[in-house]
Amino acid sequence: MTNPIRVIPLDCATCQKPLVGLPNDTAFTCVPCESVLSVNAHSTVQIPLRIAEPSETTDAPIIYLPMYRFALQSSVLDTQGTDITAETPLPEHAWVCGFQEFRPAYFGNPGVDMTAAQCTPLALEAPPPQFRLLGIARSLEEAARYPQLFISLLLDRRRDITGQTIEVDTATPALWAIPFALHEAENTLVNLLTAHRYATRMVETLAEMR
Ligand SMILES: [Zn+2]
Repeated sequence: MTNPIRVIPLDCATCQKPLVGLPNDTAFTCVPCESVLSVNAHSTVQIPLRIAEPSETTDAPIIYLPMYRFALQSSVLDTQGTDITAETPLPEHAWVCGFQEFRPAYFGNPGVDMTAAQCTPLALEAPPPQFRLLGIARSLEEAARYPQLFISLLLDRRRDITGQTIEVDTATPALWAIPFALHEAENTLVNLLTAHRYATRMVETLAEMR
């Protein structure tokens, strides 16, 4: 596939190679340096890039979608302010889509699903042939707002958390390339780590990302 890829006037901070992305991207990968440059109006931040090893094989083409991973330091206080973290099983990390997901309430949200599954992929040591990762339209700054919401949702499914305080430390983020099998005849994407299925419409820029 030959899709136009915009070269932005930004170079990798480590190897000085030009970075590529789609017009709405806010973060740009440098595969040889295993890093992601996240850009906003005020600053640029470099975070690690990891490519997840699929946990199941597929005959379908694989497309990698960008997902932020945040390690969490969560604590839960009850209504009296007593720390009940020890008796509350809490997720250790949260996943947030790096692409802008389309109508997640309808099409599903891989970030919530991977957080609920506490997905812990293995990282490939070398990128697959022709690997590239485009379409990181959601900035690191924006993504960092989601873990708190996801944790609240997940806890709320299990118990009443009214009056409890949940603090989420979203330090040490990384960006992961997560493999999805693309079944074009069925317009379906299957997460090769969690086996969750999604409509391809979930990813608006899918054609440009391939
Ligand atoms: Zn580089």
